[in-house]
Formats: sequence, structure tokens, C-alpha cells
Amino acid sequence: MEDTIIIGAGPAGLTAGIYAVRAGLKTRLFEKAAPGGQAINTDWIENYPGFPEGIAGFELMDRMRKQAEFLGINIENEEVKEISVKGNTKKVKTNRGEIETKTIVICSGSTPRKLGIEGEDKLIGKGVSFCATCDGPFFRGQEVAVIGGGDSAVQEAIYLTKFARKVHLIHRRDKLRAAKLLQERAFKQEKINFIWNTVPVKIVGKDGVEGLELKNLRDETISYLPVKGVFVFIGLIPNTSFLNNQLKTDESGFLITDSEMQTSAKGVFAAGDVRSKLLRQISTAVGDGAIASFSAARYIEEMQ
Ligand code: NAP
Repeated sequence: MEDTIIIGAGPAGLTAGIYAVRAGLKTRLFEKAAPGGQAINTDWIENYPGFPEGIAGFELMDRMRKQAEFLGINIENEEVKEISVKGNTKKVKTNRGEIETKTIVICSGSTPRKLGIEGEDKLIGKGVSFCATCDGPFFRGQEVAVIGGGDSAVQEAIYLTKFARKVHLIHRRDKLRAAKLLQERAFKQEKINFIWNTVPVKIVGKDGVEGLELKNLRDETISYLPVKGVFVFIGLIPNTSFLNNQLKTDESGFLITDSEMQTSAKGVFAAGDVRSKLLRQISTAVGDGAIASFSAARYIEEMQ
């Protein structure tokens, strides 16, 4: 039987791994995609302490992965399909079978939310994108739209000005939600055109994006904006489908934990973006991961 199984190898999962092996726990870590989580898609990170000039998201996560591996974590490229949280012996099911464990640390993160409008699904990868770092360079010299008003939308709109001729930032209110520093930078950037109180209602295009139908929420007028790319940054959905509603969540579906990162099931912990919390950052994910593994180790000690 394992001491702990960590689900996800983003900043929270890798840190949980580092703390678990250093606490002497028999640990396995599963990741269904590439290690590093959403942070690998962030071009430049300026608010993770220790890097005065900032660091590329990919590099920061590569360093965290190497550190976890150096300390003895083997990241297994497998998807967790189901878990069972009842009793002292928990179960984790992957494609290759079922594993018994004393504790589970859920660090499964979140996925970008879709707009849910006509044309979106059909044009994903053909001009509709959820990752400016991945797809920005395809739009050199073109006009693109960014949807949203949070940190992601504003940060990625600034990044896209490196390539695009014009970036239209479309927000449903007349005030941005993003951090003040990001807002100031965006307002200074001449290539960014702000379109306030507006939402997209249709993405137009056959084999690629040609434009956006927009609705002004103040006067209900519909307009058309010709753009070649649509970058959607309207928030996050927690990756919890494999939990089958076994754990308590907030109204948005994020896992509720106590200050020790324990979920509503004893011996099951959560860390990072999947948790219900005030601030979703790499720095807070790292803190969550450390606490979750420390708590898992203490739980096992108390069990014995
Ligand atoms: P977010 O903070 O939840 O912001 C989502 C934005 O999309 C909001 O402006 C929201 O409008 C808008 N929105 C939501 N649903 C919409 C819809 N259906 N149609 C149109 N607009 C919609 O999400 P995020 O920017 O992806 O950030 C997620 C988390 O990661 C946050 O905690 C953020 O701080 C963090 N993050 C941090 C950094 C950084 O520190 N540099 C970078 C990226 C992300 P309203 O404002 O009207 O609600």
C-alpha cells in the first residue's frame, strides 16, 4: 500500500511530491498530460519570488519537475479515472489498475472555461485559442480579439502585442478585474483597443476565424469585428470530474478544504487551483502543496 498518491504535476503537485518524499512517504504521482500544469503556457512570470527579472513559465516548471525527480519522484504519465475516499484504505483507479493508499493529495488543477457560443468548438485550433504563448506567433501582423478582463486576459493581451497588429480586448463590464500593475501596462499599450460592456455572441468563419459578432450589453446593439484570432480567457473550471461528487465543493465546483488542506474526506487533501481559495497563483499553489503533504504525513502518523 502507498502512503500517498498525488494527482497532478503542476506547481501544487510537484511541491506536494517534494514534501512527501522528504517526509519519507511512499509516494506515487500521476499526471495525465505534460508536467508543469497551466503555468507552462505562461510566457513570462514576474510574481514568483526568487527571480528578480522574472522567468519563463516553461523554465520555472521544468526546474520544479527536475527538483522533484532529483529527490526521487517518478512522474507517471497516467490519467486517474476514479478515486474512492471511504475508510482508512483509499483507492485510486488509473487505466492500468487500482492502487491502494493511505492518503490522496488532489492537485488536478483547472481548465480554461469556454464561451459556449456558436462557432467556438468548430474553430478551436483554427483561430480560437486558450493559450497565447502557444498560438500567438501564428497571428503576426493580424488583428486578434481577447475575451475577458482578469489577469489572464490582460497579461495575454499584452503578450499578443508582440505579434498582432491590433489586439481588441473585449470585456463584459467597464472595469478590469486584473491586477492594477497589469492594467496600467495594458492601458499604455497603443496596440490594445478596449471594447467595454460587450460580449461575443458568435464566432464567424468556415475553415478559420474571420470575425466576431459582438453584443453591447448597455444598448443591446450587435456589431461585427473582423479578426483572425480569438483568445478566450474567461476563468477556470476545476478538474474534478473523476471525483464523482464525493467531496464537498463551493458553488463553482472548487474543492473545499480546511487550513491543513484536508477536504471533506479524512486523509484526502487538495492543493492548488482545484481548491476553493482567494488567490490562484503559482506561489499559493506551492504553499498549498507543501501543507497538503505535511498534513498527509501527520495524518498517517496519527493513524498508526
Ligand atoms: P478570472 O480572474 O476568473 O477572470 C475571468 C474574466 O472573464 C473576468 O474578467 C470575467 O468578467 C470574465 N468572464 C467570465 N465569464 C465570462 C463570460 N461568460 N463571458 C465574458 N466574460 C466572462 O480568470 P483568469 O483571468 O483566467 O484568472 C484565473 C486565476 O489565475 C485568477 O485567480 C488569477 O488571479 C490567476 N492568474 C494570475 C496571473 C498573474 O498573477 N500574473 C496570471 C493569470 C492568471 P467579470 O470581471 O465581469 O467577472
